[in-house]
Amino acid sequence: MKVLIVYAHPEPRSLNGALRDFAVTHLRDSGHEVMVSDLYAMGWKAALDGDDFLNRDASAPLKVELASKYAFANNAQSADIAAEQKKLLAADAVILQFPLWWFTMPAILKGWVERVYAYGFGYGVGEHSERRWGDRYGEGTFKGKRAMLIVTAGGWAEHYAERGINGRIDDLLFPINHGVLHYPGFDVLPSFVIYRTGRMDEARYLRTRAELGERLDTLWTAQPIPYRMQNGGDYHIPSMQLKSELGIGRQGLDIHLDERRSG
Ligand code: FAD
Repeated sequence: MKVLIVYAHPEPRSLNGALRDFAVTHLRDSGHEVMVSDLYAMGWKAALDGDDFLNRDASAPLKVELASKYAFANNAQSADIAAEQKKLLAADAVILQFPLWWFTMPAILKGWVERVYAYGFGYGVGEHSERRWGDRYGEGTFKGKRAMLIVTAGGWAEHYAERGINGRIDDLLFPINHGVLHYPGFDVLPSFVIYRTGRMDEARYLRTRAELGERLDTLWTAQPIPYRMQNGGDYHIPSMQLKSELGIGRQGLDIHLDERRSG
């Protein structure tokens, strides 16, 4: 299998750097092919702007979606974007690895998503009608591929638990897991989160590495988060409202978990 790790940390001698190196070695030793997009090392341009679209009439106002759609369809995207799209298409599984910064991914990784997920690739895929609202949320370019987050956080697990002040980690990561990954079709595995990174000693680090190794070993077999399919009949189209008989007894973002698959 081919795995793409998109890695966002500025320091290779960090905890993230060590875990990234471990993941690459572990996957390769298990016979997988591993591609790494090390965004800081690549000098990844984080900000989406008109330079992303080649041959664009710079005197005209930039309409990002239209420019993206045209550039993607006409082989007129900047080379760094096209190269990342090629890696995504080649991968059977994609891992996004990052430290939690201000409750979400670092800006450089957000910029990778914004630039690489072109119109016609990450969004704007499939039939848009009264019957279907595109191929998204369980369908799309990445259908059949798996994805998982590896996230480190300074805060304690309790701070991110059900009643923790930071909000539940599943809620904070929902825009990434459900939005960035499930939306364009990935099967999303539960995130591997390492809390309280300031209290990492050698013994804990070795335990963390072993746990990560187990998660990597089950990348192909673990049950994905049971997010609902948009076009599976659970939502009214085009209002995209969850049907009233579903999600009973659930609250907040959990209503988007399919009870038939999650119990
Ligand atoms: P490092 O700082 O490199 O290391 C952490 C610990 O692991 C250190 O004790 C180090 O000695 C040890 N370690 C490193 N490598 C090894 C190794 N090879 N073997 C054994 N031990 C090792 N946290 C939150 O919870 N929520 C937030 O919203 C949040 N926002 C932040 C915003 C910013 C801008 C910043 C800078 C930090 C923020 N943090 C937040 C904290 C952040 O999530 C953590 O600092 C980060 O996840 C730690 O990962 P690291 O790779 O940088 O760890």
